[in-house]
Amino acid sequence: MKRKKIVAGNWKMNMNIDESKNLVSQLKEISAANVDIKIAPSFTNLYLTNSLLESSKIDVISQDLHHEQSGAYTGEISADMLLSIGVKTSIVGHSERRKYFNESDIILSKKVNSAIQNSMNVIFCIGEELSERNNNNHFEIIKSQLLNGIFHLEVSNFQNIIIAYEPVWAIGTGMTASSDQIQEMHEFIRNLIKSNYGIETSESVRILYGGSVKPNNAKEIFSLEDVDGGLIGGASLNASDFSEIVKAANEL
Ligand code: PEP
Repeated sequence: MKRKKIVAGNWKMNMNIDESKNLVSQLKEISAANVDIKIAPSFTNLYLTNSLLESSKIDVISQDLHHEQSGAYTGEISADMLLSIGVKTSIVGHSERRKYFNESDIILSKKVNSAIQNSMNVIFCIGEELSERNNNNHFEIIKSQLLNGIFHLEVSNFQNIIIAYEPVWAIGTGMTASSDQIQEMHEFIRNLIKSNYGIETSESVRILYGGSVKPNNAKEIFSLEDVDGGLIGGASLNASDFSEIVKAANEL
């Protein structure tokens, strides 16, 4: 099945408002008929970037959300707040949230539930640490992250789910997983979805790769059978690198 590619940029805790305006003005020109393009600026930049990109092909998404709708959760942002400024998709479970903010599988499944209940889309991130791969535990880790994070959902909810496989050891390190490692894991993930939800769902869910994707490796990675695009960190902060990566996806 031909699935439309996605290239999503995660700006993380970068870009003040002036830097965001500048980057957005360069990104505005990007258009690629075969690719869904997304960017995830920080919360302080969401409203403005979304307004500036309203007439563009770029979808502005959130890096995270809280699982409650409102209340005494200082510093947090809810699905309702995101929707109120036109943001309809959120990343959930990025490895930096898991690692630095102790976000457990239970918390992440609540975040997924809140997004789904609010009809938002989720880019759900999973990935193993290097020590887990070296101990040959990587498939078990990925399986348990999926089981605990999203496999409680109904089959119909998978229309709102995108998965991002991001080996933690490849994020921001310049080390990419090899094509064989990437395809092998993406196929494993798709097969797990197939056994739990059936072939129609497994063939339609888009599975992104993340971990040091750059203009010089994007095409090779995106051309792998079970890879449907990428979640891009560092390279999404540079308009020309990000455009090159989108172009690579568009040509496939
Ligand atoms: C990420 O943080 O999701 C990521 C893939 O980062 P980088 O591209 O910088 O490795």
